[in-house]
Amino acid sequence: MKKHNYSAGPCILPQEVFKEASQAILDYNNSGLSILEISHRSKDFVDVMEEARSLSLELLGLENKGYKALFLQGGASMQFLMVAYNLLEKKAAYLNSGTWASKAIKEAKLFGEVQVVGSSEDKNFSYIPKKYDVPGDVDYFHCTSNNTIFGTQMKKFPKTAVPVVCDMSSDIFSRQLDFSKFDLIYAGAQKNMGPAGTTLVIIKEDILGEVSRKIPSMMDYKVHIGKDSMFNTPAVYAVYVSLLTMRWLKEQGGIKAIEEQNEKKAQLLYSEIDINPLFKGFTAKEDRSIMNATFNLTKDSLKDEFDKMWKDAGINGLNGHRSVGGYRASMYNALPLESVQILVDVMSDLERKA
Ligand SMILES: *Cc1c(COP(=O)(O)O)cnc(C)c1O
Repeated sequence: MKKHNYSAGPCILPQEVFKEASQAILDYNNSGLSILEISHRSKDFVDVMEEARSLSLELLGLENKGYKALFLQGGASMQFLMVAYNLLEKKAAYLNSGTWASKAIKEAKLFGEVQVVGSSEDKNFSYIPKKYDVPGDVDYFHCTSNNTIFGTQMKKFPKTAVPVVCDMSSDIFSRQLDFSKFDLIYAGAQKNMGPAGTTLVIIKEDILGEVSRKIPSMMDYKVHIGKDSMFNTPAVYAVYVSLLTMRWLKEQGGIKAIEEQNEKKAQLLYSEIDINPLFKGFTAKEDRSIMNATFNLTKDSLKDEFDKMWKDAGINGLNGHRSVGGYRASMYNALPLESVQILVDVMSDLERKA
């Protein structure tokens, strides 16, 4: 039976990518060797890393603008501390828009003063804080573009002269933004750009070198940049599959084309949530994420029936995060519109039956 995969991460990737990725395990580039058994210093793999780095900048429109792309390990969670290690001398401003932002704040506090300039914790992160100012005397401003767990997404970013750092783990490559407004972007691959195991970090080089502390080599962005993201053995397979996914995205027409698809999917689902009396969203409408839609039933008594119906329809991964409950439909780039139609059909069937 065809599956419709709404998993929040690790998540759906294009079928074409799975095919090519599995072929590369058996025989990479007709070399008679598996991609898993060749040296990361071999030309075959160095080419993969170089293309992955340059394609990520190309897709974001950041070529020749002073940015460097890295594929590091340790997940987005490692970036919570690496950012502060490399950039926080005295004080940084953070926007607290969700669980991941809170975790980033916790790590940064180990390195200096953290000023939380805005927070939506008062309403369990169901909206994006908006009326806040970024002080001019901070080392950087940190925000989370998409709150994977709560289903909210920043539509606007503050204008500020200080460096802007953004955790884009769950909406990287999903929508057009002026990425040159950001000085450091990071994203764990497993949400929208590849399998788990690698994290894309894009850094405007001129923001580095401002802190006085000594930085261990593995934590130092400059070291990784100096070694072309090969200071130590990278997560070769995760980088390779991320590259295949980025090539796929480019073939689709890049971010502009995928954003149109993503908007269509989100609109289809949110309009059903809005018109079907059995469902309600729990986030502020203007802040709704086009990647992760959160919602719940208006009558708890329908839970067993609804759960059985979507599972019978081949839908996977629709349960909400354990800290929020309800349902979460993650509609990443590779999820086809047809899968959203299947979910919407199940929701309207429930209304007809109930
Ligand atoms: C999943 C997620 C993280 C954590 O990613 P790891 O790679 O598991 O460390 C951080 N930020 C956001 C926005 C996420 O969605």
